[in-house]
Amino acid sequence: MNQAEIDRLRALPVAPRGMFIAGQVVAAADGAVMDVVSPIDGRVFTQIAAGGAEDVDRAVAAARAAFEAGGWSRAAPAARKKVLFRIAELIEAQALELAVLGVRDNGTEIAMALKAEPASAAATFRYYAEAIDKVYGEIAPTAPNVLGLISREPVGVVAAIVPWNFPMMIAAWKIAPALAAGNSVVLKPAEGASLTLLRLAEICAEAGLPEGVLNVVTGYGATVGEALGLHMDVDAMVFTGSGAVGRRLLEYSARSNLKRCYLELGGKSPNVVFADAPDLEAAAKTSAYGIFRNSGQVCVAGSRLIVEDSIHDEFVEKVARIAAAMRVGDPLLLSTEAGAISSRAQLDKDLSFIETAKAEGGRLETGGAQILQDSGGFYLAPTVFSGVTETMTLAQQEVFGPVLGVMRFSGEDEAVRLANSTVYGLASAVWTANLSRAHRMVRAIKAGVVHVNTYGGADGTVPLGGVRQSGNGHDKSLHALEKYSDLKTAWIQL
Ligand code: NAD
Repeated sequence: MNQAEIDRLRALPVAPRGMFIAGQVVAAADGAVMDVVSPIDGRVFTQIAAGGAEDVDRAVAAARAAFEAGGWSRAAPAARKKVLFRIAELIEAQALELAVLGVRDNGTEIAMALKAEPASAAATFRYYAEAIDKVYGEIAPTAPNVLGLISREPVGVVAAIVPWNFPMMIAAWKIAPALAAGNSVVLKPAEGASLTLLRLAEICAEAGLPEGVLNVVTGYGATVGEALGLHMDVDAMVFTGSGAVGRRLLEYSARSNLKRCYLELGGKSPNVVFADAPDLEAAAKTSAYGIFRNSGQVCVAGSRLIVEDSIHDEFVEKVARIAAAMRVGDPLLLSTEAGAISSRAQLDKDLSFIETAKAEGGRLETGGAQILQDSGGFYLAPTVFSGVTETMTLAQQEVFGPVLGVMRFSGEDEAVRLANSTVYGLASAVWTANLSRAHRMVRAIKAGVVHVNTYGGADGTVPLGGVRQSGNGHDKSLHALEKYSDLKTAWIQL
């Protein structure tokens, strides 16, 4: 990574972009466009097509035609593998361009974006490329006069609706296993992060993915997302985003063709620190980064810090000091540790959570205000509230911004009770040097992921998904393939 190269790329004009349907870059059927505002300086820097129901129809028809034609859906897994590998290589070859384009769109700090966006997306394509020709069917243990064969078939047309916080990484978690399994995909990026995904569609075509197998329809959730959700010819819908929209998708499914609906939703993840944590300084640093990287716009962010009484004051002081010293600013500077808030609307939402936390009795330890207004962009100082109690809004609702609430506990039982005291169950962490306690906590915390003596680490080999209102599906690992295939039984009388 080199600052001069980043500066060169950030200065390049970005031409207005069409959608990607049936292998072609196309305008919306009614010609509508929407401005793309950079959170770095609040300026419009390009436009994208604002699709509608007619565009969704075109994209779904293209996906269906490609699926029925069989060029991809019935290709040998080894042939699909080749194309998926090529996609990974092409992403890597232009990783910096993609990362800079993405940061101009959504404001994530560049060092993080490079790792979490193109690098992670390429790794995901490679993982499913490697996996797909190693997935076998089964023979059932039937009576000897019968042969019971169980095989997996692609589900058909998959609609993937993704958020703006890590667009390439999250889209790859869905597209790569869906394509590996032989499906066709219609992807709907978030309004605030479409540019890299439009590039990804072109990369896939260049890598040899047949026309119509991957389509991208840009536009608003209430139009494009709803049209996909209600479409009678979409077989499965995979979603990452808020709980409110997740609920709508289930309704769309019920009102249309009962398409499968897999939801990866929000969280209010507890980060529990016991007094016997192996290294409190390291725990404080990792806890601060566990909430403040990408300005807290991370589904698994450790947004509730739950600290044992005896170390509470000392630990809060450490975390607040680290938060106050974080370099927040221009996300395209390599030295920046936390970039911009993705949009004006999200910044306003974060600020209103801060006002509510104050009004409900939280004690502001650091941050709490918009900063760098002169830039025209959307920046918020990393914010820490102590004195947060279970019933406060900050303890219950996802902010999706750089706002940490600290609670205190005494004893393991109270730690577990507080950890589980929300409707969510996405990620969590526990810090302790006591192995038995660590295992007890892993069992007791209701969450898809429990970190021990770290926060936020993971790779493609392990599933990511939530329990309770954090969702009902899993991205990553071989388990993700289950969403993208149907079981078929052949019962053969011998
Ligand atoms: P969002 O729910 O507002 O939007 C997500 C997507 O849904 C966007 O593409 C949007 O256009 C679309 N959408 C909006 N309204 C729609 C409608 N009526 N019908 C169909 N689609 C619609 O979420 P966001 O603000 O983009 O992302 C933040 C949320 O995503 C947070 O809650 C965060 O926790 C969650 N998230 C979860 C994970 C995970 O793996 N569990 C990962 C990242 C983000």
